[in-house]
Amino acid sequence: MTERITGHTELIGLIAYPIRHSSSPAMHNEAFAKLGLDYAYLAFEVGNEELEDTIKGFRAMKVRGANVSMPNKTVVHKYLDKLSEAAELCGSVNTIVNDNGVLTGHVTDGIGYMQSLKDNDIDVIGKKMTIVGAGGAATAIQVQAALDGVAEISIFNNKDKFFERAKKTVKDINERTKCKAKLYDLADLDKLKEEIADSYLFANATGVGMKPLEGKTYIPDKSFLRPDLIVTDTVYAPRETVLLKMAKEVGCKKTMNGLGMMLFQGAAAFKLWTGKNMPIEHMKKVLDIEY
Ligand code: NAD
Repeated sequence: MTERITGHTELIGLIAYPIRHSSSPAMHNEAFAKLGLDYAYLAFEVGNEELEDTIKGFRAMKVRGANVSMPNKTVVHKYLDKLSEAAELCGSVNTIVNDNGVLTGHVTDGIGYMQSLKDNDIDVIGKKMTIVGAGGAATAIQVQAALDGVAEISIFNNKDKFFERAKKTVKDINERTKCKAKLYDLADLDKLKEEIADSYLFANATGVGMKPLEGKTYIPDKSFLRPDLIVTDTVYAPRETVLLKMAKEVGCKKTMNGLGMMLFQGAAAFKLWTGKNMPIEHMKKVLDIEY
């Protein structure tokens, strides 16, 4: 008889709606099994209405932790005891850790992005990056990059509902870290070209490039890129967006899609719950991650 689930097995939950499509349960359960750790990771379809009761239930049942995705990421902090600095600055939580009844909210997306750069031998610390986006992924990257020691961040976004969030991010980064952040309207393409020109790295952190915007980019032509520029995309489906294809054609020295960010945000949460390093090379093989 298999001993995979026992009376001692600790639960890690994933709370979001919809969530059945998520690859996180497969990723974490594979990593637990590989390391022989007595945890099980299960997804629960939970929206904002059931969120408070779910967190109360997790507390009552002494559940070790959880991942949180939409629509709960920006709401769940209300029911927690503490927040990491990055979660506080982002106004968003994707990981909860329960330490003897004290529930702390973390955001690991930015950690995941920064770790995926390191994994690719890309060192952006002390340098300048230009990034497009002001949503959940972009904010997490900008905050973590600033906390980790990126010197300058130029942020571009359309003047849509996310623009106000970007203003707050820029203010927080400038007030609370040594990084210098600036915000520009993405409609100003001359400015975008100018800011990319003296950046070490350019990042897309919008959904442009994936469905329903697959096959699109806001970069008008290849003159925006150059061979010694590093170009990254948070999108991983498709694995090669139009932006990354363009960067390869220009001969950009390194390009990176969002698969590494996805893997390493999971690895950061895994470490918070278990104290162990996720078996990264094994997970890359299992998840067919090449970036
Ligand atoms: P979000 O909805 O919070 O933010 C959307 C962002 O896209 C905003 O900045 C918005 O202004 C911008 N945007 C939307 N339409 C645009 C357009 N036509 N032109 C220019 N900008 C446009 O989304 P999110 O959660 O931040 O996700 C953004 C992307 O990052 C998605 O592709 C998502 O799949 C990806 N993502 C990847 C990971 C990972 O681990 N690799 C994690 C989270 C998100």
